Amino acid sequence: MTIAYADCSAMDASDPLAPARERFVIPHGVIYLDGNSLGALPRSTPARLLRVMEKEWGEDLVRSWNTNDWIGMPARLGARIAPLIGAAADEVIVADSTSVNLFKLAAAALGLNAPRRVILTERDNFPTDLYVLQGLEELLGGAVTMRMVARGELESALDEDVALLALTHVDFRTGEIHAMKRLTAAAHASGALGLWDLSHSAGAMALHLDADDVDLATGCGYKYLNGGPGAPAFLFVARRLQGQLRQPLSGWMGHAAPFEFAAQYRPAEGMRRTLCGTPPVLSMAALEEGLRSFDGIDMGALRAKSRALGDLFLDLVEARCADAGFEMACPRDSARRGSQVSLRHPQGYAIMQALIAQGVIGDFRAPDILRFGFAPLYTRYVDVWNAVDRLAVIMSEESWRDARFQARAVVT
Ligand SMILES: *Cc1c(COP(=O)(O)O)cnc(C)c1O
Repeated sequence: MTIAYADCSAMDASDPLAPARERFVIPHGVIYLDGNSLGALPRSTPARLLRVMEKEWGEDLVRSWNTNDWIGMPARLGARIAPLIGAAADEVIVADSTSVNLFKLAAAALGLNAPRRVILTERDNFPTDLYVLQGLEELLGGAVTMRMVARGELESALDEDVALLALTHVDFRTGEIHAMKRLTAAAHASGALGLWDLSHSAGAMALHLDADDVDLATGCGYKYLNGGPGAPAFLFVARRLQGQLRQPLSGWMGHAAPFEFAAQYRPAEGMRRTLCGTPPVLSMAALEEGLRSFDGIDMGALRAKSRALGDLFLDLVEARCADAGFEMACPRDSARRGSQVSLRHPQGYAIMQALIAQGVIGDFRAPDILRFGFAPLYTRYVDVWNAVDRLAVIMSEESWRDARFQARAVVT
């Protein structure tokens, strides 16, 4: 039995998270299913940025580092992220990009776990994770080796040489979730540390870093956390490791006393030692508004809605696009799936362009994956129904064959 539009309206009417949509700017006529790539704009962000510019920067000038606590932003925002990821406030800080943080934390892990020298990761890990580890390998010239294996071979590849198991929690192509607790325990059992990239998890589901005994983590500020394009990322270091941790980008903001201007680097206590340079205040302010959009949100309810949205999408695709040639690229079981669904189709790029022309914004990942992300704070059940409705029409009319949907842009 096909699910009707009215059924979806009824689900929205009883959705406890429905009011959160008002916290965002969603353009009229747009069905936004790409919050996993760039979160929507919180309604409060423009006014906040204007205030930071006109009042804090324009009038208060350099005094704002103290009077408006600009200097405290990395830790303050970290404390806001902590409950979303199941960490203590003093285990999280905001700085730099995910790529840069991966570098700092992977290098730190090698120091924490010397003389082990292998970094184990998955061949299908997000490319920046692989590239940063390759850069570290090259920099350390022979002192460290990267071991890339298939997803199913990770646990058997853990041996006494592995210093670090570095993984992304939710696969960006397939949406498949790694068993964070089990893999962390396996890493520990072999004497390795674990580093998790939470870019596709933070803000999309409840995480339990402390309960899962996670060592190190980082993640993106501009996806489900709604911090805006290029928003700073976050870092997590378990409290038990903070005292021994040293990272190579030892800039002045990570110094114990930056304003002593001493010649010798001395790491700050706690998470501050993971910082490098001056925080980007405008971007931090935007991220703070993004994080405020989680105020009062129950992460259990958020995850339940995320799973329901994904299931609804797949149910509707199965019912209405059965002969369109789609192949499921994500787990059908929502317990094993992040907040996205992925479909394979040889004409995936053109189909996604045709959808975008119809106001349904998802994205495409080479070679053939259509991705649809469901940010539970602002995606409605009727949005999912409308998205699949338009997809079904595009497939039956084959409107994706239009020449204008074939040309590839730089960003897909
Ligand atoms: C989006 C994403 C990143 C982004 O890294 P940047 O340094 O912000 O470009 C990193 N890792 C994963 C898994 C991602 O999904």
